[in-house]
Amino acid sequence: MTLLGAAQIRELAEAIGLKPAKALGQNFVIDSNVCKKIVRIAGVTSTDIALEIGPGLGSLTLALLEEAASVVAVEIDPRLAQQLPLTAAIHSERADQLTVINQDALGISTLISDPTVLVANLPYNVSVPVLLHLLEKVPTLRSGVVMVQAEVADRLAASPGSKDYGIPSVKSAWWAEVKGAGSVSRSIFWPAPNVDSKLVSFTRRVTPGDEVLRKKVFTIIDTAFAQRRKMLRSALSSLYGSSALAEEVLTKAGIDPTLRGEALEILGFCAIALASPDFNSTK
Ligand code: SAM
Repeated sequence: MTLLGAAQIRELAEAIGLKPAKALGQNFVIDSNVCKKIVRIAGVTSTDIALEIGPGLGSLTLALLEEAASVVAVEIDPRLAQQLPLTAAIHSERADQLTVINQDALGISTLISDPTVLVANLPYNVSVPVLLHLLEKVPTLRSGVVMVQAEVADRLAASPGSKDYGIPSVKSAWWAEVKGAGSVSRSIFWPAPNVDSKLVSFTRRVTPGDEVLRKKVFTIIDTAFAQRRKMLRSALSSLYGSSALAEEVLTKAGIDPTLRGEALEILGFCAIALASPDFNSTK
């Protein structure tokens, strides 16, 4: 097994005529030690089926093949998806353990295997939707480590009351405990992005309710954070018809109507949903 370094990444890109596309968040990791470190932090073992989103030219994929029982890699760019099995065959004795799916990760509903761990350097423009989508659609994922833009990492791992706490923090908390897992230098990418990056890790936990409740909860979260500086009774007034009716629901839920959404943990939003009359939840 040989991992990919800066020269090999550039050569590979040139060989397939690839100019990294900003719109697809194509910043490739050129430091194999960082890839090994990510796999180590994720705690991948020989019984894991690893899911990688956006394998790109394969830097992280090769490091994953070394540790996991098998790897499922979902890549939207057909040129990269076609090349990856060939790269794996050259660099890894475990290339037959790799399945590449040429698809938009946001379209994943069922996978051919049941991945246990997510390890990915996520495309930055869709990192939160992709992470939330996978937590929802791939229940076999028990844990994972993802690399995302630094600000997004801070939002995902934020606690109630902090300035970073918002929709990504509270929605991801429905499925998982999310924590910061360190910073990554810009110099490990080609091309170097003009934003900083961080790692976050997550561990799945039992959800506070079923899908019907989740949809209701997510609609309340979106409404509360759409006007995050407003008190909940006013921020949720559009959902219940008036601030008086919103105040009634909040009081029934045991939540102070003068709080802002940013003060509530996921269980607070669940209490509001359980105290709510029916409304159209669209999430
Ligand atoms: N994992 C590689 C690495 O670390 O070098 C590449 C990471 S790069 C930040 C993001 C990758 O995600 C690119 O290969 C890009 O083509 C792919 N990508 C972008 N949007 C995607 C989507 N919606 N679904 C699947 N892959 C996507």
